[in-house]
This record gives sequence, C-alpha cells and structure tokens, in this order.
Amino acid sequence: MKKHNFYAGPSILPEFTKEKTAEATMNFAGTGLSLMEVSHRSKEFVAVMDEAVALVKELMNVPEGYSVLFLQGGASMQFLMAPYNLLNKKAAYLNTGAWSKKAIKEARFFGEVAVVATSEDKNFNYIPKTFEVPADADYLHITTNNTIFGTEILTDLDVSVPLIADMSSDILSRPMDVSKYDLIYAGAQKNLGPSGATLVIVKNSALGKVERPIPTMLNYQTHIDNGSMFNTPSTLAVFGCLQTLIWLKDQGGVEAIEKVNIEKATILYDELDRNKLFVSTVPIPEDRSRMNVTFVMAPEYSELEKEFLDFATVRGMVGIKGHRSVGGFRASIYNAMPVSSVKALVETMQEFEKTK
Ligand SMILES: *Cc1c(COP(=O)(O)O)cnc(C)c1O
Repeated sequence: MKKHNFYAGPSILPEFTKEKTAEATMNFAGTGLSLMEVSHRSKEFVAVMDEAVALVKELMNVPEGYSVLFLQGGASMQFLMAPYNLLNKKAAYLNTGAWSKKAIKEARFFGEVAVVATSEDKNFNYIPKTFEVPADADYLHITTNNTIFGTEILTDLDVSVPLIADMSSDILSRPMDVSKYDLIYAGAQKNLGPSGATLVIVKNSALGKVERPIPTMLNYQTHIDNGSMFNTPSTLAVFGCLQTLIWLKDQGGVEAIEKVNIEKATILYDELDRNKLFVSTVPIPEDRSRMNVTFVMAPEYSELEKEFLDFATVRGMVGIKGHRSVGGFRASIYNAMPVSSVKALVETMQEFEKTK
C-alpha cells in the first residue's frame, strides 16, 4: 500500500534525494567508494559543499556580505550559538511556542531576555501581531514556523533591531527577503535533507561585536573561515541537502514551490473548515501554517480520535498523530509532499465522515 508520510521531522524527502543519496552511499561521484568512506577534504566532497552553498545562495537570493554554513548540533545548538555570538547585554524574543521557549531558555545564559509578546495564553494558537521591541536590544529572535502548534509568520518582519529567525520548518518553502535578517538557521530534517546538518545564513558584519570570548567550535567566524570544514561535517547529510536543493531548483525554485505549498494547505484547511468532524487548532486563517496543519476532532466528536487515527493508518497515512502538547492530529506537508498525498488524506477524512 502507498504510504503517505506526514511525519513532522525527520520527514518526507523527494524521491530524487533518496535515490541519489542511496547511489552515493555505494559509489560516490565515480570514486568506487561509499560517500560515507570518502574524506571531506577530497575534491569530490569539497565540490558537494561548494555546490550546496552556491545553490542556497541562488535559491534564497542571498545578498553579498552573508555566509552560508552547514553545521552540526541541530537548530537546538543554534539556540545557544546565536546569543553566544550576537547577544551583548539584552535580546528580544517573540514567544510563539515550544521551540521559541527553548531558544529563550538558552539566551538567558548570555544576558537579559525581553519577551516582547507571547501567545501562550491560548496554547500558542495564534501569532502576536503588536509588540514593542526595546531599542537597546541586540536583536529580535523569531520562530517563523511553529512546527508543534501549526502557526506561521508568513511575512518578513520590519523591525528596528537586527532580526534572527529559526526557520527550521519553513526554510525554502516560499520567497524570503534574506537582507532583512542578520541570522537565519534551520535544522535540515524538516524541509531540506537528512538530520545531521544545520543550515546557517549569517550576515558577516553582525559578527565580532560581543565582548565575551567564544569557544572555537561555537564561533560562527571559525566556520566561515574554514568553509564549514573546520572539523568533519556531516558529509552524508550535506550531500542529501544538496540533492534536495537541486530538486527544488528543478521544480522552479521557491516561487514555484510556494504555489504548490499554498495549494496543498488550502486543500487541507478547506476540508477542516467544511468537515463537521474536525477543526483546525488555529482559528485565525492568516496565522495558519502551510507546513504543519494541526487539527482536532470537533468537541462533539472528541471520542472518535483514536478511531480516526486507526482508520487513517490502515489507509496508508503515517505520522499524523498530533504532538502531545496539542493533541489530535498534525499533517506535516513540507516541500517534498505531493498534492496527491494531501488529497488522499482529505479523501480519508471525507470517507470517515460518511461512516458517522
Ligand atoms: C525541529 C525544530 C527544532 C529543533 O531542531 P533540532 O535540529 O532537532 O535541534 C527547532 N526549531 C524548530 C522550529 C523546529 O521545527
């Protein structure tokens, strides 16, 4: 039976990425060796890193004066690397969910944190729109897509201080104006490739301003100076990211994929608004994530939750159980998710409705 992969992360990847990576694990770039056995300093792997960096710059339209890095430690390491490198005295954070909270917790090791707004009062089911950023903050940190709570900031904010964004779950899903950010980071395993790589895009001129000494491995400058090869990068993960970037360019880039992402999200949210059994957990349409669609049974049908999960599972739906802090269901519909899988989920919901 066809499996429809709605996992939140690690998550669905293009067939192209999987095929090319599988081939390279046996014979990488004609070397007769596995990608896993080849030196990261070989010309074959250096070409992979260079092409991946160049494609990120091309697809995201990264301006001059920015560095693109592939690091390790996940987005969670960026929660501390960002303030280590950029927070002198005080930073501002927008609290839109579990990942924002974790970023805030790490920033507090480095200085004062001003939480400018939070949507915790409604279990993070909306994006706060009006907030004031202290003029003396070194930066404002935002989480553009809230993977767990199904909300997303779909515009590049205009703020008076430098902007930092955790884009782990919506990087490359739509055009973004990189010039508005001093730092962007994203764990690869949502929209980019296998787990084990973290994409970082940093404005060079933002660095070197904090007073504290920074350990070598946690200093962005180290990785800029060494082309993400100060130590051994995750060669397999970076290779996988490159394949997805090649695939994305072939799809027509971020403008084209955004259209598909809007189509997929519209199909699913329209069904949630129509089907009497289900409701979206995000009532405000403009706050709804195009990447992670969270929903629950309507109150009068709440006892059907387990039954629907089983009903969907036998029809090939994988990974739709909601995160424990929201309950219900979550369909993650990242770039690689075909429209046909979203339609299959919607048909399953309609079929289930008919049985009630
Ligand atoms: C998954 C996720 C993280 C954590 O990523 P790791 O790579 O596991 O550290 C952080 N932020 C967001 C928005 C995420 O979706």
